[in-house]
Amino acid sequence: MRIGPYDVDIFSDGLFRLDGGAMFGVVPKVLWEKAKPADELNRVTMDMTCLLIRDRGGHVVVVETGAGPKLTDKQKRNFGIDTPPALLDELSRRGVRPDDVTLVVNTHLHFDHAGGNTFRDGDGVVATFPRAAYAIQRDEWHDAAAANERTRGSYLADDFAPLEAAGRLELVDGAVELLPGLWVERVTGHTRGTQTVRIEIDGRTLYFSSDFMPDRHHLPLPWIPAFDLFPLDTLEAKRTILPRAADERWVVAFTHDVPRFGRIESVEGRYRFEEIAE
Ligand SMILES: [Zn+2]
Repeated sequence: MRIGPYDVDIFSDGLFRLDGGAMFGVVPKVLWEKAKPADELNRVTMDMTCLLIRDRGGHVVVVETGAGPKLTDKQKRNFGIDTPPALLDELSRRGVRPDDVTLVVNTHLHFDHAGGNTFRDGDGVVATFPRAAYAIQRDEWHDAAAANERTRGSYLADDFAPLEAAGRLELVDGAVELLPGLWVERVTGHTRGTQTVRIEIDGRTLYFSSDFMPDRHHLPLPWIPAFDLFPLDTLEAKRTILPRAADERWVVAFTHDVPRFGRIESVEGRYRFEEIAE
């Protein structure tokens, strides 16, 4: 996908599985399982989608780093992860080495978005992308570092704490233009400090959702994960963003759908995702 000066690639770090009931919140299983079948443990399978954004000026941006290489066998079993993380291979296939990456964006710091930020090196944990700044919302950083009983299952300190010691952290507040036309924008809902990524250039917009709208099955307004800490904020964000995305014909990609780009169509009051060729 090309937009303005940027080439944007989309790929998956791999599949994982989460409880389907938690994924669809108040929606009854008889409805959600038609959209997304559950396995014998009531789990649904999802991709951990990443973006690679490059321009001709040497900027190499990685959005989301997947589950990463540090999970224990028990964690992999719990999260239904059967394959090694694909992030570095996917980058390598596109000619990108870890040293080339200039900026990493995590929409938030849950293990399935920030796990590849770091890796274990001997006794330590170090940044996977040693030259990159890691752009994270300040509130997300603080909430992850001070996780509570409700949130700590999703935050693994080794995914983000070593970035501060390495001086790689770029904490941002609210809406920030990180590169010309490339914005991160805070959307409270899934967590307090979740951010989306939006490229807007020459009247065209490419939008990466973050987990307040993790896949196309979450386009209906009340289909909101039980994981969301502020579900009514998620609802408001969807009310604001979906009409704009449809009216302005944004190209949209989701964090946990099959890696692909599409548009949001509004058909008889319902939003629908229509895939487009890259
Ligand atoms: Zn997620």
